[in-house]
Amino acid sequence: MGHAHHFLSRLDRLAHSQVELALSLYRDDDRLRFLLQQARLPEGAERVAVSLDHPHEGPFVLVTRTGRFVTCLGRGMRVSDLPIITRAELDALSNKHGLWQGRERAKDQLLVDAGGAAFLFGRLFDAGPNLAREEFQALAALHPLIGDENYDTALEWTRTSRFLQNKLAPLVRKRGARIRPFQLEQLEVCWKTFFAAGHLVNLALVDEGEMLARRADGDEARYEIIADSIVVMVLDGSDMSKTLRGAWALGQLGPRWLPYARRRLLEASTALETMQATFALLAIGARHPDTHPEVIAAFDPVPRVLSAEAQGWADYVCPGAVKILEHPEQHVEHHCKIGAGLAFELRDRYPDTSPYHYAREEDVDRDFAYASPFQLVASFGFDLSFLPMAIPAVIPAAIAAPEQLYLPRRCVEFLDDRWSPDLSLLLMQPTLELTAKPPPRPEGPTRNGPCPCGSGKKYKRCCMPEAST
Ligand SMILES: [Zn+2]
Repeated sequence: MGHAHHFLSRLDRLAHSQVELALSLYRDDDRLRFLLQQARLPEGAERVAVSLDHPHEGPFVLVTRTGRFVTCLGRGMRVSDLPIITRAELDALSNKHGLWQGRERAKDQLLVDAGGAAFLFGRLFDAGPNLAREEFQALAALHPLIGDENYDTALEWTRTSRFLQNKLAPLVRKRGARIRPFQLEQLEVCWKTFFAAGHLVNLALVDEGEMLARRADGDEARYEIIADSIVVMVLDGSDMSKTLRGAWALGQLGPRWLPYARRRLLEASTALETMQATFALLAIGARHPDTHPEVIAAFDPVPRVLSAEAQGWADYVCPGAVKILEHPEQHVEHHCKIGAGLAFELRDRYPDTSPYHYAREEDVDRDFAYASPFQLVASFGFDLSFLPMAIPAVIPAAIAAPEQLYLPRRCVEFLDDRWSPDLSLLLMQPTLELTAKPPPRPEGPTRNGPCPCGSGKKYKRCCMPEAST
């Protein structure tokens, strides 16, 4: 009580807005403890200064290591040699605490009320692109227990889906969905493993890449293999929903992956390899603004890559990527507008009384609009008309918290379509095309097609490099 009383009486050393912040910390024991636990304080430090503004000038709130309040120090008052939690760290950790709380709450609800782990893992496998936010959160809360398995299972299911797609493609091309029952079952498994692998990639990285670093164990070659496998899994199938959510995971690879991604781009010899490298670069640039100069240097001038096919794609995506990184916030706004449109189109799925039965497009709330485009199932690697929407959407995916890419359960329950063979056939379109004989010429991006930067203009009138006109 002595401490707390002193603390409260010293609040007059702070400006009004800082009083609010200091009190919010004071009232939220849980957040303060989380902060102290995560801040990596030096051993033996009994007290800590939490800066409310300037990292060295303060003002500060002084707390004990165990989370008791000591006093407030106005701007410029000395903290002597106490360890300091800066305002930037305070904000980042508070944000992390918010995510952590949401995940714990979802875990408690779904593991206790909704049917336990069997329900949760069942949904992970069955939900396709419609996994709900709370389900993702609850699975994320289990990361300390199953983080490693998330990664291993993602690899296994990516392989399963790819294997089944390749195996079924010739049959499906001949007979459509009129195949034998066990093959029909395999068709369903290939849909489910495809999307579940995507969720698992993000779930494997919700610890900000610690699991990845631990598995690599300081071995650069091992790190390279793991990070490469993540890029491959994310781009596999180049589906709007799976790949764009996976762009969040690509952003998590962070600055460490940048030199590798640049080399991957230079060594690209296929359309897919070019896209793998550019998506990773774009996502890292979006997630880590301090890497912008290096990411832009990777795209501009357009690098000379290893084959004509890859060059065509590099010429197409690199200038657009530079433009996208110049004004990332515009692409977030544009993404939300597209999302609002999608959510509005779906309003009839909801009962009249539901808040999601929107009367007008402008009523769609931002959270819903942000998550909606990540539900879209369409291969932008196959249907290139989706490319100008897919590439800029890397930005909102990479900068978000991963749960923001999923709709809440109360929305998803009305969208949750049962699996049908047509869904798998839709997913398999690129594979069907690739395995067709004779292989059709890949159409590739064209001069008259829409620009990949999302401007809505023709490529040749927008980002196409002068040299190719
Ligand atoms: Zn453009």
